[in-house]
Amino acid sequence: MTPSEVRRFESQFKRSHGCWIWDGNVPPTGTPQLSINGKRTSARRASYEHWIEPLDGGVRLTVLCDDELCVNPYHLKAEGFELTGDAGQSFPKHQTHCRNLHPFNLANTVWSGNNTRLCRICGAGSQR
Ligand SMILES: [Zn+2]
Ligand SMILES: [Zn+2]
Repeated sequence: MTPSEVRRFESQFKRSHGCWIWDGNVPPTGTPQLSINGKRTSARRASYEHWIEPLDGGVRLTVLCDDELCVNPYHLKAEGFELTGDAGQSFPKHQTHCRNLHPFNLANTVWSGNNTRLCRICGAGSQR
């Protein structure tokens, strides 16, 4: 994040007992969201990547303090993905890779109903 983005980030949460409680946009999925250059991104991921270290697409963040709205990077833990076998064509939102290990990053994710998502690379292959 640039300094002005950091200022915007910091204007969107309230400090409370060490937690940074997100006061900005929270969609129905419950994950705090931040707009950077008009693109929506996870506020937690932006926070962690800014203050701790960059993450690759396969890593997801767990909130250690159990407050779903907390975006304090020091209350977040980065975890590698787990393979949960063949889940078919669509994947629950917590899954970070499809069954062929394509990452569900911004470019490769197609959202469908019920908070599930499809792999764009696999989808493109099967349409050929
Ligand atoms: Zn917290
Ligand atoms: Zn795939």
